[in-house]
Parts: sequence; C-alpha cells; structure tokens
Amino acid sequence: MRAPIYLDHNATTPVDPQVVRVVARALKIFGNPSSAHAYGKTAHAAVAEARAEVAALIQALPEEVIFTSGATEANNLAIRGAAFAMASRGRHIVTSVVEHPSVAAPCHWLSEHGFTITTVGVDAHGHVSVQAIVDALRPDTTMISVIHAHNEIGSVQDIAAITAVARRRGILTHTDAAQSAGKIPLSVKDLGVDLLTLAGHKFGAPKGVGALYVRAGTPLVPVLVGAGQERGLRPGTENVPAILGLGETARLARIRLPKLTLRLRARRDLLRRRLTQAIPGLAVNGDPDGGLPNTLNISFPGVTGRDLLAASERDVAASTGSACHAHSSQRDALAAMGLPPERQRGAVRLSLGRSTTVADIEDATAALVKAWAGLA
Ligand code: PLP
Repeated sequence: MRAPIYLDHNATTPVDPQVVRVVARALKIFGNPSSAHAYGKTAHAAVAEARAEVAALIQALPEEVIFTSGATEANNLAIRGAAFAMASRGRHIVTSVVEHPSVAAPCHWLSEHGFTITTVGVDAHGHVSVQAIVDALRPDTTMISVIHAHNEIGSVQDIAAITAVARRRGILTHTDAAQSAGKIPLSVKDLGVDLLTLAGHKFGAPKGVGALYVRAGTPLVPVLVGAGQERGLRPGTENVPAILGLGETARLARIRLPKLTLRLRARRDLLRRRLTQAIPGLAVNGDPDGGLPNTLNISFPGVTGRDLLAASERDVAASTGSACHAHSSQRDALAAMGLPPERQRGAVRLSLGRSTTVADIEDATAALVKAWAGLA
C-alpha cells in the first residue's frame, strides 16, 4: 500500500536528504563552540559558516543572525525582548489578527504586564491594510509585528510598506517569516524590518532550530538569561548539528529558490484547476493570484474539512489549517477574513513541497474528489 501523499508542508517538511548527510556528519563535531581548544574552534568555525549561509539567504550580515530553538522562541525573543528594551519610550505595540500563536501569545502576555496591544484586522483576502496600521499608531508605539506569509491561507503582507511608515516614526518592526523562507524571496533589505523570524523545519531542516534576524543596533533584551552565547541574546550551548543543518538548508534554498517557486506555483495551480473543475461550488480562500506559491486553501461545499480529510486519509495527508489548531474547532484566520461559518467549516489547507510531483497532484485530486462525492 502506498503512503499517503504529503500535502502538509506548511506544518513541517521532510528533512532534505542532503541536510540529513550534513547533520549526520555534524554529530561528530562534538566540541563546545565556546571552548578555546581545537575541538571548540572546529565547532565554532562550523557554526560561523552556517550563520553566514543563513545571513546570505536573507541578505543580512552574519552577526545579525541569532540561532534559536525555532520560530516560537525567535518570536518570543523579538516581541518580549524589543518591548522591554523600548519600554522607557513607550508601551504600545501594533500587531495583526492573523498572527501565529507564537506571536499572538507573547503579545497577550505583554498586555498582562503593563503594555497595550492594538490588533488590526484583515480584508477578505487575508491582507492587512497599511492604512489600518497607520491608524493604529500612537505616540507611545514602539513596535509593529505583522506576519510575512500566512501559514493557513498563504497571503503575503506588504511588509516593506509597513516598515517605511514605521522607520519615519522610529518604531521597530518585526515579521514572522517562518513560512516564507525557501518558498519566496526573502530579503531583510527589501523588507526593511528590524527583526525577522525563521523556522528551519518549514523548509528542509530538522525541527528544533530557527533564527532571529536582529538588525545591527536594534535594542533587544534577552528572554533567557545565562552565559554569553549568541551575543548574550540566546544563552546556552549551541545545538551544533541542527544549526549546521539549518545552514545547509539555507544554502540549498538560495540556490534552488527561483526554479522551485515556479515549480510549486505551477503544481499548486494545477491542483486548484483540477479541484475547481471537478467540484462545483468549491471556493478558493485567500489571495487568488499572489500569496505563497505552495499553498492552496479551499472550502469544499456541503462537508466539513475535517470529515473530508478523515475520509481521504489513506491517500492524502493534509490539514484543515494550522497544526497548532488541528485538534480544536478554532478557525481564526478564515473567521478574521469574514468568511461565512459554512465556508470556514469546509476549509482544507493543501500545502505542496519540493518533492510534490504532478502524479501526486493527479492522485490527490482523485482521492479528494472521491471522498467529497461520498460525503456530499
Ligand atoms: N510562525 C509561523 C507562521 C508558523 O507557521 C509556525 C509553525 O507552525 C511557527 C511560527 C512556529 O514554529 P515552531 O513550532 O517551529 O516554533
């Protein structure tokens, strides 16, 4: 029996075979990067190389990359770290209603610790309006945090327009780019952000490693306190094998990106065409033309997304939304976009990856259409 076709790359990706080899070799680099002897120096040099690769992917300087345990930690460091570093200037933060819980929860935590949070809404395509951000700003606003590419609906926000406004007013900007890396071009220069979050396992690295870009000179205090690793912003002995895996993933992403983006988009569009042809009343959620090239969020008519995926689980592995909400009935982003409850209930997120073939698209379409016909 064939394994189900994996269409859940926004939840996590398989580790790239080349990255597996790098990580396996790196397990033998056992020195502590902080040690002054030869073993330490070898580990330190390897981490420095990985840092340079991650920096190159996002057009940053190596010293602006702080390795973390993943996007959740990077988001916490960015939001809590910048909020407290800027607290003497103001205690107001602006964010959006479609943030991942690893941004929304630190913002909520801050709201219970003397800060005020303003949350701006999105339009029917999942876009945050720059004007809504401008309208939310106050004299005491110190930071704006808006997700770059959305994990459930794939909408990509105009971060450059937001940072242009913020810079004129001396406000820090953070974006959670966990879903963008390896899928679309990602340049901190073009985006103009001060802080940017990356997650290794969303683009071919192992789980448990990520990074925070911190523009040189950005005020930031650590969330974890301890020794001086990662410029004191993320103390603790470095996870050398995972960091080297992230470095290799970044290197591969930089080389592969232009072709991969085109291939993902062509296959995603084929999937959308096939499903809309076969299922009358199927609705596409989110930005129909822009957005992440690998992501298709659709609502099946007359069924729930959950029932549909259960009926097709032998053939297709996908989800109704974010893995963080998979076991709840919460449908935050679609509700925030103002979609009717029926359309929210019928929603399924199909997210493609580098390994998704045209045959996978055809087979997945057949399985989903069959499951829908059996339920509707
Ligand atoms: N931010 C976004 C947009 C995500 O999609 C995810 C993963 O689901 C995260 C942050 C959290 O990543 P991690 O679980 O690796 O910390």
